Amino acid sequence: MIRVTIFNENIHETRQPEVRAIYPEGMHGCIKKFLEKQDGLEIRTATFEEPEHGLTQEVLDNTDVLIYWSHWMQDEFSDVVAERIHQAVLKGMGLIALHSAHFSKTMKLLMGTSMTLRWRHGDRERLFITSPSHPISAGLPEFFELPIEEMYGEFFDIPKPDDVVFTGWFAGGEVFRSGCTFQRGRGKIFYFQPGHEQYPIYHDENIQKVITNAVYWCAPVRKLQTNPECTEVKAPLEG
Ligand code: ZN
Repeated sequence: MIRVTIFNENIHETRQPEVRAIYPEGMHGCIKKFLEKQDGLEIRTATFEEPEHGLTQEVLDNTDVLIYWSHWMQDEFSDVVAERIHQAVLKGMGLIALHSAHFSKTMKLLMGTSMTLRWRHGDRERLFITSPSHPISAGLPEFFELPIEEMYGEFFDIPKPDDVVFTGWFAGGEVFRSGCTFQRGRGKIFYFQPGHEQYPIYHDENIQKVITNAVYWCAPVRKLQTNPECTEVKAPLEG
């Protein structure tokens, strides 16, 4: 059983009727719905306005993969909770950071770079698989399109990814490393660019397939129960 927690701010959906019209149950509700069709997943959700943003130590201790969407409240997000997620990833929790979550405190802590990029609303995107052997690309066409999405363009100031699973091209001419994997400590991280709140991105079947694949890929292999420590080796392995 993979224990999945979906964190979504749920602020755009509650304050902007046009976003609520696309996601009546919030983006987290939409993501939960398509993940529930899969076997072997136990899914819960968390939102910004819950105490500790719904991401208490107990919740993270019982999460194998955290899906994370944030935008409006990045500055207001608790430093303590951001650091708690950082530590959970080092211990082995998987993290799927969606769209504007690139600029969350958590991703900045994990990546160590400015995470800046270029952006523009309302463009057509074509996503190409650029790592066809990667499990996150399984079952997807060589490329697929989103009729309307927010353009995110290079230069994207991230550390060198382990794999660039998807590269996005925008009708306005920009390109972007749209799906990147990283490992930090024992945790696997997948950053995925599509998901601007004003467009129905998480209703798209290909996007749903990517996120589903990413949940299985990010699930921990060998998770620590306590924080990693330096261990004194009192006796050598060989005499
Ligand atoms: Zn956006």
